[in-house]
Amino acid sequence: MVYQEPGEKVRLERISPDPPKGMTKERAQRRFAELGEELFQLQDAMFGAKVNSVMVVLQGRDSAGKDGAIKHVAGCLNPRGVHVVSFGVPTAEEREHDFLWRVHRHAPRLGEFAIFNRSHYEDVLVVRVHDLVQRKLWKERYGHIVDFEELLAEHGTIVLKYFLHISKKEQKERLLERERMAQTAWKLNSNDWKERDHWDEYTEAYEDAISKTAAPHAPWIVVPANAKWYRNLVVAESIVEALRAHRKSWSKTLDETGRKRRTELAAWRSEHGEGKGGRVR
Ligand code: AMP
Ligand code: MG
Repeated sequence: MVYQEPGEKVRLERISPDPPKGMTKERAQRRFAELGEELFQLQDAMFGAKVNSVMVVLQGRDSAGKDGAIKHVAGCLNPRGVHVVSFGVPTAEEREHDFLWRVHRHAPRLGEFAIFNRSHYEDVLVVRVHDLVQRKLWKERYGHIVDFEELLAEHGTIVLKYFLHISKKEQKERLLERERMAQTAWKLNSNDWKERDHWDEYTEAYEDAISKTAAPHAPWIVVPANAKWYRNLVVAESIVEALRAHRKSWSKTLDETGRKRRTELAAWRSEHGEGKGGRVR
């Protein structure tokens, strides 16, 4: 797992997309199951405490495994407190607003998780690679993104951004596999092959996006994603780590709330005599 240091230029070719030596699928899956339980409990505490929220941003090239990561991680969460949003080509209405408009309205409310399949980062990725707006416009966006994420963090949002890092060879295999298998052929999109021709431009755009927007309150995590089981583990582990840091403060808030509610209930009982001695009408 590679946490990108703020202010440092990332070089994706120097980061291996493969699992580290010695890591096995069995070990990773066992650990993932443990983390899943911890994640469920942390989510419950966060939901009750309502002082923080989580925004998980998943970015990556076509077939990098954004959907798979969401399926596995969201599968550990209580659906009551999570919403998943996919950001595709902007609609006419979205295009008539600033680029953050469609994203901001899906920012998580306190207590909740929002998981983004693509995000505001597309506006400095696909938009940059294909010149969809003028250079001087997308260049300004890094600063807007930094400010936006700072605003969310000030509101208590734990912002976590993932780049699912696959090799060019792995992408080719995945796209060809999709084509071969009747069950996955529906995912085929000739655009994925067209985008593949822009591999190096995307690399540059990703390196800039990651380097310019990595911050202590909104870190980027480059996830070695050639193996799906390792990818899932890295994403789960880093979310749990980020949430664990808040566990004590959430427990404290929950304890205080519990005490307050008990006192309120006791006061209400002594005033009304209702529910005394288990008598409930
Ligand atoms: P998929 O994630 O495979 O459903 O594809 C969604 C498509 O929407 C991708 O090709 C993205 O590049 C594209 N997309 C997402 N956001 C934007 C954006 N802001 N401007 C242009 N295209 C976008
Ligand atoms: Mg796609």
